[in-house]
Amino acid sequence: MVPFIDLKRFEDGFLERWSAKVATMTSKAEFIGGNEVNALESRLSDFVQVAHAVTCANGTDAIQLALRAIGVGKGDLVLVPNMTFWATFEAVVNVGASPVTVDIDIVDGGIDWSSLTEAITRYKPKAAVIAHLYGWGSANLKAIRNLCAENKVLLIEDGAQCFGVEIDGEPIYKGALISTTSFYPAKVLGAAGDAGAVFTNDADLAAKVRQLGNHGRTTHYGYGAVGWNSRLDSFQAAFLNISLDYLAQRLASRREAVKYYTNALSKIGITEMRAPSGYLQNGYCNVCLIDDLGQKSKLEAALKSSGIGFGNIYPGAMSEQPGAKDFLHAHVGGNQAEKLCRSVINLPLFPYMTQAELAEVTHVVESNFSKNVNE
Ligand SMILES: *Cc1c(COP(=O)(O)O)cnc(C)c1O
Repeated sequence: MVPFIDLKRFEDGFLERWSAKVATMTSKAEFIGGNEVNALESRLSDFVQVAHAVTCANGTDAIQLALRAIGVGKGDLVLVPNMTFWATFEAVVNVGASPVTVDIDIVDGGIDWSSLTEAITRYKPKAAVIAHLYGWGSANLKAIRNLCAENKVLLIEDGAQCFGVEIDGEPIYKGALISTTSFYPAKVLGAAGDAGAVFTNDADLAAKVRQLGNHGRTTHYGYGAVGWNSRLDSFQAAFLNISLDYLAQRLASRREAVKYYTNALSKIGITEMRAPSGYLQNGYCNVCLIDDLGQKSKLEAALKSSGIGFGNIYPGAMSEQPGAKDFLHAHVGGNQAEKLCRSVINLPLFPYMTQAELAEVTHVVESNFSKNVNE
C-alpha cells in the first residue's frame, strides 16, 4: 500500500507549532492581513528573488489577478497551452478574454515552440499564459520569454507547480514579467486550505494586483477599480510561514525520490519525462509515458490491485473539454497534448516517502511492464 500522495507526514514539532499559532492568533482575533501575511509576502519575495510577492486566495485567482493587472479583458485573445490544469484556461475566460489553445511539446510538457510562433503570428494575441508543469519549465523558457517580449505579447507564467524550481541556478519565477503560484495543499508549498500568490518585479503591476484582490480599493471605502475579494486569510499565511521553515527538507526528500525513480525506471525501460538540462526540479510529480495502451492499462490494474496510488496528469486536453466549447477561439498546432493525455501515468511522489515505499512501487512496475512488447 502506497498512497499517490500523503499530506499528513508532518515534521516533528510541526503540529505543535501550528496549534500554538492558531491559539495565539485566535485569542488576538488576527484573521485578515496582519503580521503573518506581511511576513509571508516578504519571505516569498526573498525565496523567489522577485521584488514583489502579493498573496491572494488561491492559484486560480492569482492568474486572474495577473491577467487583469496587465490589462487583459473583454475581446482580447490569450494563448494557453492545450495541456495544463483547467484553471489556466478558466482564468482567461473569467476575465472576459478568449483563449487560443496551443499544442505542447511532449518532451518537456511545456508549450510547443513552433506552434507558439505560429499562434503569435496568426492571432497577434494580447497575452499568453504558459504553465510550468510537473516540477520544471520548458527547455526553451528563456527563448519563449524573449519571443513574447519582441512581439509585445504579455507573458504570464502559471507557476502553480514549480515552487522551488531553479533554472541556471536561479528561481524560475525570477525572470518572468509576472508569474503566479498556488499553495493548494498538494502543491510543493501547501497551505491548510486554499492560497496563492502573484510575483512581479514591476511595482505598478504589483500595486494593481494588490488593489484588484482587495475590491479595487484606494481607501477603505473608496474604489478605484472593480476587483473582488481575493485576500489571503491570516491562518493560511501562518501555516505557510511555518511550512516554509521545512521547505528545504521537503524539496530534498522529493528530489531523492526523483533520483530513485529515474534510476529504477530507466533500468525497467520505462520512458520518464525529465526536467530539461539547466533545471533543478522540485520533485512535484513523476511522469511516465507509456504509449502502448494495453501495457498502460495492465500496469494501472496492477497498481490498483496492489493498493498503489497513481495519477493521470492530465487525462484530457483543454480544447477537448466540454466546458471549453463556448469559449475556445482557436487551436494552433498538432495533437501532442492529446498524445500525452493518453500515455501519461504518474507514480506516487511526495515528501518523506520511504525507501520501502519507493521499492514497493518500482517492484510492481517492474513485474507488470515488459519493455520489448513493441519489438
Ligand atoms: C493547482 C493549479 C492551479 C490552480 O490553483 P488553485 O490554488 O487550486 O486555484 C492553476 N494552474 C496549475 C498548473 C495548477 O497546477
